[in-house]
Amino acid sequence: MSVRVRFAPSPTGNVHIGNIRAAIFNWLFARHHENGRFLLRIEDTDRERSTPEAVKAILDAMEWLGINYDEAPLYQSTQHARHLEAAQQLLANGHAYKEDKGGTGQGECIIFRMPGTDMAFHDEVKGDLRKEAKDMKDFVIVRSDGSPVFHLANVVDDITQSITHIIRGDDHVENTFRHVALYQALGAPVPRYAHLPMIVNAQGKPYSKRDGAAYIGQFREMGFSPDALFNYLTLLGWSPGEDREKMTRAEIIAAFTLDRVKSAPAQMDLRKLSHMNGLYLAELPLDQFMNGVREFLTGLDWGRSLDETYFAAVCKLMQSRTPLYSQAETWNFFFIDPIPYDEKAVQKNLKKEGARTTLETLATLLTATDFSEAALQQALRQAETALGSGEGKLNQTLRVAVTGVTVGAGICETLHVLGKERSLTRLNHALTTFC
Ligand code: GLU
Repeated sequence: MSVRVRFAPSPTGNVHIGNIRAAIFNWLFARHHENGRFLLRIEDTDRERSTPEAVKAILDAMEWLGINYDEAPLYQSTQHARHLEAAQQLLANGHAYKEDKGGTGQGECIIFRMPGTDMAFHDEVKGDLRKEAKDMKDFVIVRSDGSPVFHLANVVDDITQSITHIIRGDDHVENTFRHVALYQALGAPVPRYAHLPMIVNAQGKPYSKRDGAAYIGQFREMGFSPDALFNYLTLLGWSPGEDREKMTRAEIIAAFTLDRVKSAPAQMDLRKLSHMNGLYLAELPLDQFMNGVREFLTGLDWGRSLDETYFAAVCKLMQSRTPLYSQAETWNFFFIDPIPYDEKAVQKNLKKEGARTTLETLATLLTATDFSEAALQQALRQAETALGSGEGKLNQTLRVAVTGVTVGAGICETLHVLGKERSLTRLNHALTTFC
């Protein structure tokens, strides 16, 4: 039998990485198996909390991450009749009973009768799980207002969609004992279960928005590449082995099996994610990288009308050093004049003894140099000899004078991109202003 799995989010708010990680693992599992099917079910029975915006956020997140599904999404709210039919079946065969809960006279709800025996199921991640009969109580499956409860709707829909494997967060482990009992009472084959480990912060607590970005929309806004985020999320609770981390989607699909899903909590590490994102950005074709950067610069005064050739040169220089598109905001020194100077950098590097002589020597040598990288290297070596300073010792002074900051790409590459005129103007400006 071919595997059929599903992602069954409740559309009640933003899409948390934990939710989408469940979608990704289901998708990978389906794509790993020949003829595997990945379905989407929107669990929108909570009419008060479900919103069309939240449905849209789910669909957008999936599309952005390239998680496609194989059949039209099933909206749980359309399955009402089936849920109630199942409840009637359970009443008819004695697995459920009616009760006026609290005796308020507001009507009867339908209650599922637990079998009264210990329950067990095998979890593909956590192993064999058991629960004693005394720890499981009968539970409501249809409220007195006639609305089905999550457990009933969830199980009935999984039967309707012929789901073979249920891969979901381990916050549902306890529910699963009830769900297995429901399957048995409904005479349906029990699917296999795999409960995914919780995503936690550095302190081991559930990862939330307080720990930094937690919703897919935020990662998108911050400039993450969907492929990098996808790759990173696969590593939250799964490992391909051999320390492999950066992998293509095809490689991940080929390697994805449930026996490599871990049961220990998975720690979300934004720095690691940024690092991975940088690896993805570094290997994009230049024009694609430029498009990504451009999107982030249009919100900035200086980022709107850029000279294409110059912009391309800046992007080429910075691409391998950019963990996030949004970091292009710090490239302002390439584009605006006069540049803003970082005060601390100026204090430390320009208002120090010898800075004036250094910059004067550099100004003279650079004036006589063409701005190819090789010529710039040579000019710097000459300046070092003239000033009796060690290799690379002048770089920071020069860098702060022409960029205003202490970090960036290699100094000669930076000067080359800035060009002779701009670099010398800034150098002389720094001399007269700070030294
Ligand atoms: N709507 C439930 C949730 O988002 C579904 C759980 C499941 O996958 O069965 O937690």
